[in-house]
Amino acid sequence: MSSAASRDRRRIVERLGAASRVLLVLHVRPDGDSIGSTLAMAAALRALGKATEVVAPDPIPPNLAFVPGAGAVVDAGATRGSFDTALFLDCASLDRIGGATADLERAGPILNVDHHSSNQRYGEINYVEPQAAACGEVTYDLIRALGVALDVEMAVGLYVAIVTDTGSFRYQSVTARTHRIAAQLLGLGVRPAEVAERIWDNRSLASLRLEAAALRTLEREGELAWMDVTPQMLAESGAAAYETEGLVNLPRSLEGVEVAVLFSDEGRGEVRVSLRSTARVDVSTVAVSLGGGGHARAAGCTLGMSLAAAHAAVLTAVRAAMR
Ligand code: 5GP
Ligand code: MN
Repeated sequence: MSSAASRDRRRIVERLGAASRVLLVLHVRPDGDSIGSTLAMAAALRALGKATEVVAPDPIPPNLAFVPGAGAVVDAGATRGSFDTALFLDCASLDRIGGATADLERAGPILNVDHHSSNQRYGEINYVEPQAAACGEVTYDLIRALGVALDVEMAVGLYVAIVTDTGSFRYQSVTARTHRIAAQLLGLGVRPAEVAERIWDNRSLASLRLEAAALRTLEREGELAWMDVTPQMLAESGAAAYETEGLVNLPRSLEGVEVAVLFSDEGRGEVRVSLRSTARVDVSTVAVSLGGGGHARAAGCTLGMSLAAAHAAVLTAVRAAMR
């Protein structure tokens, strides 16, 4: 850890130590890292005697509702009372909290804990570890630094954060330390097969039908591959928008592909773009240039344009980045 990061962590620990009511905020379309890190952190703060509330700008996907504490998460705008501290985990920029902005008006200064290299350092204190494979790793360190003894419920949250953001320990970001932390979490009682089964082996028939329809749009151009989701596919399959999560891994898994893109038009006049690379191309630069953000190997953006226009804009930027 850099000395700047260790100083920032010390400052966060001090501030959380002095806090009594903490608002924790999930990011839009919350994923396993956002949910797992945030719920583990909320439990750790409660163990220190703090009052906590967790607010979500979008619903928790059903396959992540098993994470301990998920049942107490409230919708944006539904928090009550006021907070002396706001804590964001896994949130690269302020616009990632969507409708939870209203809840923030009754909260104190923002503490920003993250692992995105594109993090915009919007907090009063910013503790960012870009080499961490998941915000769950950063959260693990922070909970330890707070002197809280991890219990099995916190361990499940942290394990979910790490196993989802690393593609089950497969991505370039994974280190020996990622595995050592995971080993600690298993030692606390996490059952990895049970977690994996709940997250990945509980799919709806509609989501498999959506996958089949999307695969028919798969296109390849050398080391670049992409796929679409259209409003018609969502309607015909009956799948929900959150069920597009993970589809980008299909073009990514094609042999010889370096960059994969999923274009998801959910019929709201905008296109959600997911970008992945396997080894070489920094897709976060592409996403940032289009108003989004993320990591070198996983990034995204939302474009207010048609699917055809999004294809043109994104594929042009990706081709340039690949040269
Ligand atoms: P996904 O493709 O799974 O939605 O997102 C991949 C990564 O890119 C995640 O780490 C996420 O934080 C980041 N990301 C996706 N969309 C956006 C966006 O619109 N803005 C920012 N800042 N980051 C994004
Ligand atoms: Mn993350």
